[in-house]
Amino acid sequence: MSATVLAAVMPAPLAAVEIREFREPDLPRGSAMLRTSFAEVCGTDVHLWHGRLSGVPYPIIPGHVTTGVLDRVRGEVTDSAGRELREGDRAAFFDVHRTCGRCLACTVDRTPTRCPSRRVYGITDSAADGLFGGWAQKVYLEPGVIIARLPDAVSFEAFIGGGCGLQTAVHIIERSRLALGDTVVVQGAGAVGLSAAALARVSGAGLVIVIGAPASRLELARKMGADEVVDLDRTTAGERLTLVRDRTRGRGADVVIEAAGSPRAFEEGLELVRDGGACVIAGHYTNAGDSTVNAHRHINRKHLDIRGCWGSEVRHFLAALAALERHGGEVPWQLIGSTPYALAEINDALAAAEAMTVTKALVDPWS
Ligand SMILES: [Zn+2]
Ligand SMILES: [Zn+2]
Repeated sequence: MSATVLAAVMPAPLAAVEIREFREPDLPRGSAMLRTSFAEVCGTDVHLWHGRLSGVPYPIIPGHVTTGVLDRVRGEVTDSAGRELREGDRAAFFDVHRTCGRCLACTVDRTPTRCPSRRVYGITDSAADGLFGGWAQKVYLEPGVIIARLPDAVSFEAFIGGGCGLQTAVHIIERSRLALGDTVVVQGAGAVGLSAAALARVSGAGLVIVIGAPASRLELARKMGADEVVDLDRTTAGERLTLVRDRTRGRGADVVIEAAGSPRAFEEGLELVRDGGACVIAGHYTNAGDSTVNAHRHINRKHLDIRGCWGSEVRHFLAALAALERHGGEVPWQLIGSTPYALAEINDALAAAEAMTVTKALVDPWS
């Protein structure tokens, strides 16, 4: 057992990520260490680097969704179903912890993702507290963290390819109240949009249309289950509206999923959706600016449901694992996470993620 663990630390917004040594902690009962196989660089990490999220206790070890092998387990540690977890198990964990279960958000409003006590590995946990992020050789799983064994059929590559985007997509599909046969338009072909398209398909959508760019991501969208793809850079909003109306006998989409993070995408979605349909807004994780809405035309007369989607709950994490196990044969989640980077290359990985030259950069802290 090595006494020191290497981790990539983001010292402050816009400062270069640096490698630091951490001491492996003494484990209290009910905790575990995960030896990282893969973490990911997602859009959130790019936002973190730019300092666009509030309440982030820099310095941090980023990497909120991570998978690997349980390296040490102290005392009895079980999964959500009460099954014992053992050293050597391939595992993943739910990045949200310390949700209090007592506040109004947790109890009365039933919106635990808005609990003020909630902390998230790699985002709102400080490096001063220890190994609370996946851009590290090992991650400390404190008592109470939800840990799950990876099903045998789910590879590390498939799990991390799905990553946080898949968990968000599970929540999106839940919020969309998708019905069998629905026409679904997904705006955005990043990790969230790709998984949303895949889940819409396996959830029974009649037609899945993905609008996005660049062409390489649209090719992947087809492999993930999109029936039709539309290149954002080669079409006008008017052409896209015509296409969606063509495919829906002039009515518009039953469900529009915004996973683009653009105020213009939201405005366009209001046009693409049918009367009485639903728009789920999942791409505006940070403030991208204002959109223009006409309350009469877009919402009231259209009898429209506009639903937000913030964060994930345990059931979304577990449902993501179940989807990987059940549908991993037909949906190539492992293709989303294309390029592994070593800890020493993390700054390049962040740059690639921001420039969108890779669909998703992976972190392999042992390479
Ligand atoms: Zn709470
Ligand atoms: Zn993420």
